[in-house]
Amino acid sequence: MSSVWIGWGANVGDAKSAFDVALSQLDSHPQITVLARSGLYRTAAVGQIAGDAFLNAVCHVTTSLAPLELLDELQSVELSLGRQRGVQWAPRTLDLDLLFWDEQVIVSPRLTVPHPAAWYRRFVLDPLIEIASDLKHPQLGVTLAELRDRLRVRSLQVGLAPHWAALCESSRIEITSRFPGVTLSTTDDNATPTLLLKLRHDDESPTISSDKPIADLTASPGEPLQKVIDFLNAIHDEPLRVSDW
Ligand code: ATP
Ligand code: CA
Ligand code: CA
Repeated sequence: MSSVWIGWGANVGDAKSAFDVALSQLDSHPQITVLARSGLYRTAAVGQIAGDAFLNAVCHVTTSLAPLELLDELQSVELSLGRQRGVQWAPRTLDLDLLFWDEQVIVSPRLTVPHPAAWYRRFVLDPLIEIASDLKHPQLGVTLAELRDRLRVRSLQVGLAPHWAALCESSRIEITSRFPGVTLSTTDDNATPTLLLKLRHDDESPTISSDKPIADLTASPGEPLQKVIDFLNAIHDEPLRVSDW
C-alpha cells in the first residue's frame, strides 16, 4: 500500500459540490481509500488567465494502484466533472494533482512526484500542513511546516540561476516594486539566496537541494517576468481557511 497526498483545486461553477462528488468517486474505487482531508481554502487565482478565486484542499489516500494508474484515475475523475483539457492554468471545474507518493521521487514523461511546485505554493502547503506536517519532502529533506516557514521570511532572498540574462532590468524593477519583501540576486553576486529560480532551458542549474531549493519554471507558461510574478504570488498569497471539508 502506498500513502499518497492529492491536491485539489477548482474555480468554475460549484467547486464544493465538484469536490464532494469527486471525493466519493475516488473513495468508491476498490483500490483507493481516503484517510484524511484538509479544510477548504480560498486562494486568489494564480496566472493571468486563471479566472476567479480558487477553492483548494488536499487529501491523503492509501492505494494499491501504481503511480500512473492513479494518475489515470485522477484524470478520469477530472473529465467526469467536466474538465476541459487544453490551456494550462486555464479556469477549471476540477484539478487533481499528485503531490507526494510516500517519500518517493518519480520522474516520467507524464508524472513528476513530488509535484514540482508543491514546495512553494502556499495553497498546497497550508492545507497539507493540517494533515501531513511531519511529511518530509524527499528532495529537500525538510518537513512541509519547515518549508512554509522558510517562505514566510522577509526579506526573502531569491536568486536567479545562473545569471540575469533571462530577466531585463525593467522586469527586475517591476518585481521588486510589486514585492517589496523580496530581494533578487544572481548566482554571480556574493549573495546567499534562500531559493533559486530557473527560467530558461539553456540555464544550467544545480540539482534541487535543501539549502537552496530551485523552482524550475522553464515549463510554466508565459514570459519570464510573468513566471516570476506567478511564482512570487504563489508564495505571498495567504490561503484563507473557509471551513472544514
Ligand atoms: P501545475 O502542474 O503547474 O499545477 P496544471 O495542474 O494546470 O499545472 P494540468 O494541465 O492539470 O497542469 O496537467 C498537465 C500534465 O501534467 C498532465 O497531463 C500530467 O500528465 C502531468 N503531470 C506531471 N506530474 C504531475 C503530477 N504530479 N500530478 C498531476 N499531473 C502531473
Ligand atoms: Ca495544478
Ligand atoms: Ca493538474
